[in-house]
Amino acid sequence: MTNLEQLYQETILEHNKNPRNFKKEIKYTHSSHGKNPVCGDDYNIFLKINGDVIEDVSFEGEGCAISKASASILTTQLIGKTIEEARQLKDSFLKLITVQQDCGDCKKCLGKLQIFEGVKKYPIRIKCATLIWHALEAAFNNPVTKEQNSD
Ligand code: ZN
Repeated sequence: MTNLEQLYQETILEHNKNPRNFKKEIKYTHSSHGKNPVCGDDYNIFLKINGDVIEDVSFEGEGCAISKASASILTTQLIGKTIEEARQLKDSFLKLITVQQDCGDCKKCLGKLQIFEGVKKYPIRIKCATLIWHALEAAFNNPVTKEQNSD
């Protein structure tokens, strides 16, 4: 096993066991639901956006280790970013795990997310890893009304 593969497995298992920002109570302004019927992954993501800055994030749901770890690591990268920066991160991430040739440029800003490059080898798992990113984009376009998020 290469170092990257080992890091991949360890990181996925660790985040699956101890997901960050999971079921955290936040006063969210945007939310969405993402589902991957092939695998059974099913998550909600909640964002607190002020102006165009993501101030807080939370997620809940169930799914395989890859989908949960991907969601967990995503949330650790979002806080403090603008929507535009988050979209750039999403584009880099999607490129990293779907483009077959090596894409040096997209790795620069990804940090820990780089380990997901290993998913490329397992096309059926790509949907697991990208589910939460598509949910994130959907959440940007789905502000919640006061009634849905009352105290
Ligand atoms: Zn899955």
